[in-house]
Amino acid sequence: MAARLHIIGGGLAGSEAAWQAAQAGIPVILHEMRPVRGTEAHQTDSLAELVCSNSFRSDDAVNNAVGLLHEEMRRAGSLILRAADACKLPAGGALAVDRHAFSAAVSDALENHPRVELSREEITALPTAEWGSVIVATGPLTSASLGASIGAATGEDQLAFFDAIAPIVHRESIDFDIAWFQSRYDKEGPGGGVADYINLPLNEDQYRRFVAELLAGEKTDFKQWEKSTPYFEACLPIEVMAARGEQTLAFGPMKPVGLQDPRSSQRPHAVVQLRQDNGLGTLWNMVGFQTKLKHAEQVRIFRSIPGLENAQFARLGGLHRNTFINSPRLLDSQLRLKSRPHLRFAGQITGVEGYVESAAIGLLAGRFAAGELSGIGAPLPPPTTALGALLSHITGGADARTFQPMNVNFGLFPEFPKSAKIRGKDRKQAMSARALRDLSCWLDGAGSKETAAE
Ligand SMILES: Cc1cc2nc3c(=O)[nH]c(=O)nc-3n(C[C@H](O)[C@H](O)[C@H](O)COP(=O)(O)OP(=O)(O)OC[C@H]3O[C@@H](n4cnc5c(N)ncnc54)[C@H](O)[C@@H]3O)c2cc1C
Repeated sequence: MAARLHIIGGGLAGSEAAWQAAQAGIPVILHEMRPVRGTEAHQTDSLAELVCSNSFRSDDAVNNAVGLLHEEMRRAGSLILRAADACKLPAGGALAVDRHAFSAAVSDALENHPRVELSREEITALPTAEWGSVIVATGPLTSASLGASIGAATGEDQLAFFDAIAPIVHRESIDFDIAWFQSRYDKEGPGGGVADYINLPLNEDQYRRFVAELLAGEKTDFKQWEKSTPYFEACLPIEVMAARGEQTLAFGPMKPVGLQDPRSSQRPHAVVQLRQDNGLGTLWNMVGFQTKLKHAEQVRIFRSIPGLENAQFARLGGLHRNTFINSPRLLDSQLRLKSRPHLRFAGQITGVEGYVESAAIGLLAGRFAAGELSGIGAPLPPPTTALGALLSHITGGADARTFQPMNVNFGLFPEFPKSAKIRGKDRKQAMSARALRDLSCWLDGAGSKETAAE
């Protein structure tokens, strides 16, 4: 009998991984703890339950990176996308679903699949190598005992129990007539650079107005069960810091010491610093700007910062209860834990963010595991595809020192050469066209050179 694949967690990622592997001929045991043990957010015992919104976001495969990811997943035979398409509700350009019909469709497909066995149990520790190939897809609300076991295997500081997300800006949308590159005190960084940060200056009036906006801006609330998460002092939201005193930020994340605006040759009253967030240098993180401000408020208030008037945000800030590992440090390119390669990780626990991204990483993990177990191998998706761009980001493209969960966005894709002069909307459309062309080659069996059987 063919070797079996164990998958822990029957959420978005685990369900998709099970489907992909089973469709590739691999027998799967899917271990799901509900209803034996619940989570703080799930309400049912269905597979692939949507714990909050019923939207998979934009379905525009031409201009939007998550819409492109939908399309790539459809073409790769995704169960999650098939069920979403079958259960969709009117929602303009978004793909929204009837949540109960959606979960029922996923549950039916897996429960009736001849190669899938469903086992309702909590797995309380990381399986040993005797289990053979395992995918861990237990999500942001991984049960406490398994979380502790993952922490012990990876090192406690490589596993987070909450996220503290600062907004990320597309570099090309920053106004460099105002912004300048400089490291504080021109101090040499680990990479040898002395001008590693992008700096945005605020004079005293601009700073005071900015602080007032932060305090007045509309915030989202923590859910009752999130309130006890012990992170506040370690990672305060910027507006909470601002509430401690008008000048607190000017002595904290916005301190200007060691920086000089080259245009005025002065030290500004306050500075917003952005740090490079991906190897491609397309995405820049607003240092210390984790926030519970509502998304629309973030866009409005952060665009009042000089140099960010036209900022395009690849990700907006947030703080949530979440469980995720430091994937860029811990996982190899095929999602295997480097220290225990019989274990793969998939879904939100790998540090992607969102239903679609979680399912996408499940799709890849299922294919990689199936390729390995069958001996056929599975090529990596090209980094020019949405699947490949997301995978490359979490398995090495992102900076491991500051790794936080990420949505799919065009900033993760390799740029076109400058000489091609493709900008704005045309750039997104060209990236989408390139992605779907390269995806076809991958689905036909050619991909990036390295394969999952290696
Ligand atoms: C409260 C909340 C709201 C969210 N809202 C949204 C949203 O609106 N839109 C969006 O795009 N994303 C949202 N997310 C983020 C994320 O997209 C979802 O959490 C998504 O479900 C993640 O998919 P997953 O497969 O990684 O995890 P899940 O879908 O959570 O699946 C994990 C599964 O593992 C099971 N499990 C956990 N531990 C064990 C164990 N030890 N043994 C066996 N089974 C186990 C769980 O019961 C669960 O079924 C939200 C997250 C949270 C926590």
